[in-house]
Amino acid sequence: SHLKIPDFPWFGIDIGGTLVKLVYFEPLDLTKEEEVKEGDVLRTIRNYLIGNTAYGDTGERDVDLEIKSIQIGDRLGNLHFIRFPTNQMENFIDLCVKRKFHELCFQVYATGGGAFKFESIVTENLNLNWSKCDELDMLIQGVEFLNQINKENECYYFKIEPKKTDKSPSNSVSFDSFLSSSCSDSLSSSVCSSSGSSNSEYTTCPLQKSNFIKQNHTFMNTYPYILVNIGSGVSVLLVKSEKDYKRVSGTSIGGGTFLGLCCLLTGCKTYEEAIDLATRGDSTKVDKLVRDIYGGDYSKFGLPGDIVASSFGNMNIDEKRDEATREDLARATLQTILNNVGLIARDCARNYNCERVMFVGSFLRLNGLSKHLLAYATDYWSKGCMKALFLEHEGYFGAVGCLKNFIN
Ligand code: ADP
Repeated sequence: SHLKIPDFPWFGIDIGGTLVKLVYFEPLDLTKEEEVKEGDVLRTIRNYLIGNTAYGDTGERDVDLEIKSIQIGDRLGNLHFIRFPTNQMENFIDLCVKRKFHELCFQVYATGGGAFKFESIVTENLNLNWSKCDELDMLIQGVEFLNQINKENECYYFKIEPKKTDKSPSNSVSFDSFLSSSCSDSLSSSVCSSSGSSNSEYTTCPLQKSNFIKQNHTFMNTYPYILVNIGSGVSVLLVKSEKDYKRVSGTSIGGGTFLGLCCLLTGCKTYEEAIDLATRGDSTKVDKLVRDIYGGDYSKFGLPGDIVASSFGNMNIDEKRDEATREDLARATLQTILNNVGLIARDCARNYNCERVMFVGSFLRLNGLSKHLLAYATDYWSKGCMKALFLEHEGYFGAVGCLKNFIN
């Protein structure tokens, strides 16, 4: 009873632990014949998707990410990026039924844990050909594919320049604390091995005194590279070529941890609110610094006083707890997670001799602060030898990898 699957629509969907990412290709080159064949239902769906930027109560289209007039396979179209919380999956299916999706039979490629978890409820309610794909395979394919088709505009890095004019007193400690855990090894070993190198080399150039200049980067032939996906949790992949990669590390302390802890500690309700709080906070009000313990630097191992010795380490003290604001707590949470991700990324890059570390995942969404911190730290601990790369479509690569199946 297999009907022939029509050419369109093309949907790729990534159902993650926190967010569902949906990529939709809107063809611009439909022939008269195809338009007739497409029929009213599909036309209505297409018009609904591209005519709106919000769907139901929680669905959103990232209009800024849309790629216009792009060639995919031998078709020309616009690529749309839509997301909603995974806990809304059942409402999403209801909405699809209301919009008469179930009257059509078409192909969908799905990835993420939810491709499995929601398979039965999806296929019971909608008449889809639901093909499940591995999430890391799709992630790599999405990264490679979008870098090919969106060559000039996908990949970027930050050129870091000290702000020479800014003589204001250093408020640098919160950033230096990031460096502490991600740099202490290289810091102590280089201080020990290269006699005459002064510690100040490692303590100057704080984030607040740097300019981050966004630069486009054409991502080609730069294997091997480390790919760090910061979603709800974190996966670290070593990519040797488009077809050859392995998962070399990971941590459960990721974007989900950031949001979860921020909700607990600050009473905030959304990711946007958590990021806003963190941007305005000071983590050194929360963390225990080397100088809190030593009264100054820990000179023997080249650890400056203003780096963090213990994340959240001051929060056992009543007065410090009273002084810490919601902003400070959110910032300390962000900093703690980045310290850990940064450390793991650095060790992987070193172990596998990679000069490029690419950071993706929805945790980077609206999160220039984290991107700057990662860029700065990567530059700092590699003494400029390694580069942190970022991609415009942050959290959407799994879904893009799924979409690519339509042209294979
Ligand atoms: P997953 O596939 O595990 O859902 P994502 O790459 O989509 O992972 O990243 C999820 C993380 O992105 C969240 O843990 C949170 O830190 C961040 N995030 C960004 N935007 C949102 C949002 N609108 N709602 C919830 N979390 C968000």
